[in-house]
Amino acid sequence: MITNTKTKVCSKCHIEKPVLEFPLRGKYRIGYCIICSRNICRMWYKKNRAYAIEYNKQYQHNHKDRVANWRCNTNRKLKIKVLTFYGNGRCACSQCGEDRLACLSIDHINGGGHKHRNSKELARFSSFYRWLHQQHYPLGYRTLCMNCQFIKKSNTLEREKNDKNSN
Ligand SMILES: [Zn+2]
Ligand SMILES: [Zn+2]
Repeated sequence: MITNTKTKVCSKCHIEKPVLEFPLRGKYRIGYCIICSRNICRMWYKKNRAYAIEYNKQYQHNHKDRVANWRCNTNRKLKIKVLTFYGNGRCACSQCGEDRLACLSIDHINGGGHKHRNSKELARFSSFYRWLHQQHYPLGYRTLCMNCQFIKKSNTLEREKNDKNSN
């Protein structure tokens, strides 16, 4: 087991650092610390920018399925992560516990979700889940299933009707 107290000397900057600061490649940690390997990457990219862009383009062109698949998987993973956070640690409805992914979505607790989703701020992000992730999981949201969303909506409508009648 790797403990936090283990150290390793970086073969680039020769500084002794905790092993956790060395990136994993497969099962093993590489010889350069995270800072050095980032610098190496950056330097390489600077020198080979045109090549890297062309390579990426070619790769995306030649592996359309793989790239689409990868994108889909990343989005799915992110969705699960966000839903789990707002489901209080479970990828499930925070009200009834429904856990079929297709039924779940994020509820704006105080309403206004629709307006917010269409706002300019959100238009910059490819998805609402990505936005929540990039905002470091703001308060005021929860995971709800379609049924519970529906119940909430009809309760709100009911309440608004009662408010109107009582005025
Ligand atoms: Zn280093
Ligand atoms: Zn529910």
